[in-house]
Amino acid sequence: MRKKIDCRDYPSEMNCTLVITGDEEEVVRAATEHAVSVHGHTDGPELREQIRSSLKNEIPQHA
Ligand SMILES: [Zn+2]
Repeated sequence: MRKKIDCRDYPSEMNCTLVITGDEEEVVRAATEHAVSVHGHTDGPELREQIRSSLKNEIPQHA
């Protein structure tokens, strides 16, 4: 099952609506880059752990 992270779950001044879906490692990597480049977070083990713990299972829409 793919994982999903939704920026709308994390209130910010940017009202970011990005959704990233894919394999867990892909989502963690892409979300980390997004958090750093767009939200100004600092890359590191803490950020990755925070993102990893925020992943949800994707609900298939077209089963
Ligand atoms: Zn975002």
